[in-house]
Amino acid sequence: MSVAPAAPEPDVSPCTSCGACCAYSSDWPRFTLESDEEIDLIPPQFVNERQSGMRFEGERCSALTGTIGCSTACSVYAVRPQVCRDCQPGDDACTMARAARGMAPIPERPEVWGG
Ligand code: SF4
Ligand code: SF4
Repeated sequence: MSVAPAAPEPDVSPCTSCGACCAYSSDWPRFTLESDEEIDLIPPQFVNERQSGMRFEGERCSALTGTIGCSTACSVYAVRPQVCRDCQPGDDACTMARAARGMAPIPERPEVWGG
């Protein structure tokens, strides 16, 4: 007998048990549209030397906490870069990042996950 997977809680973002896009490439969480003032809001220990994006530690953004694929969080969530806000659960970038870690794609549900 097979057991159907439990349906995800509709108001819980899948990002809290993922983190794949935060550990995909050091070139990814780079600053683009941010003003100097917005970048200054990010604690400097999480910004790279060139001030061009988030600092990576090993294979993951230094602001990412927790265990990828299990339980994760962004320690600068309120002031995270635009590129991080743009990556939405279920979109192409999300699917690519998850695939790189052997994780299945998730349904795109913008009406639920929000921005
Ligand atoms: S946007 Fe996708 S890849 Fe990024 S943390 Fe959320 S579910 Fe994972
Ligand atoms: S700043 Fe936050 S959302 Fe962006 S890559 Fe780092 S941990 Fe992920």
